[in-house]
Amino acid sequence: MTSIERVGVVGGGLMGSGIAEVNARAGKDVIVVESSPAAVEAARQRLESSLKRAESRGKIESADAVLAQVRVVDDLTALADRDIVIEAIVEDEQAKTDLFRRLDEIVTSPDAILASNTSSIPIMKLAVATKRPTHVLGVHFFNPVPVLKLVELVPSLMTDEATTERARAFVQDDLGKTAIDCQDRAGFVVNALLIPFILSAIRMFESGFASAEDIDHGLVLGAAHPQGPLALADLIGLDTVKAVAESLYEEFKEPLYAAPPLLARMVEAGLLGRKTGRGFYTYG
Ligand code: NAD
Repeated sequence: MTSIERVGVVGGGLMGSGIAEVNARAGKDVIVVESSPAAVEAARQRLESSLKRAESRGKIESADAVLAQVRVVDDLTALADRDIVIEAIVEDEQAKTDLFRRLDEIVTSPDAILASNTSSIPIMKLAVATKRPTHVLGVHFFNPVPVLKLVELVPSLMTDEATTERARAFVQDDLGKTAIDCQDRAGFVVNALLIPFILSAIRMFESGFASAEDIDHGLVLGAAHPQGPLALADLIGLDTVKAVAESLYEEFKEPLYAAPPLLARMVEAGLLGRKTGRGFYTYG
């Protein structure tokens, strides 16, 4: 199995910059592609401030040394020589299929892996946009990427086993993550279990059954969860919770995945949780 040394990341937002960071910290040669010069600058700053934080906490010796492993550019053709490209652009099916079509033309090695960090778009839809569906799979990281150890590996029906095993060796042995295997179904393992749990907590609150504080205290103190489901929903962002719920509902048509009216109203009101200062709780 040939090792993966040259890594491409498309999209340098919240997830892409984290994925670039863990790869650079693992000694990989990393190229991040963003969509415009302004976005290149924003991605570079995101990466730099996260690395400086890691340096000040003693997690890495030198932020500058890690930064030197990363180039951030706005030209997709820079990815031609990559061993793996991990896509982390906006969660938009058309944008992602267009990108996979272009990556298929640009990335030259027939062994190269084209991976997606998508949370909800079927990997098969991305695979069939390329002429190398055997080398396309989902590699789903968790936010914040430098902290959370899990990666869900999501082969489609067309992915060959060698690709999955190479990706597993890369995320586990090189990046120090733990991989779990999931089928190409909306939500994979974690969101398929977590989202209905959060939706149940919202329904419980909405019906007046218990207060937000009591629901969260119940799960923290009675089930040893690190935070309650409503505080967690505020952290994820209520718009994201709703979008993932909708993709699960679309896939399985099960009532447990249906977004409750209160969640829809809060999103319409712009009460999205921590990022807007108010969700189930009020912040700062
Ligand atoms: P984000 O909005 O923070 O970042 C997306 C970035 O992609 C932006 O910086 C944007 O400029 C860039 N971009 C858009 N189109 C592009 C293109 N054609 N070429 C290059 N760059 C482009 O989003 P995010 O939260 O980082 O999510 C990215 C992906 O990761 C999505 O598929 C999302 O579902 C998935 N994901 C998100 C989370 C999470 O907790 N946010 C967790 C796991 C997976």
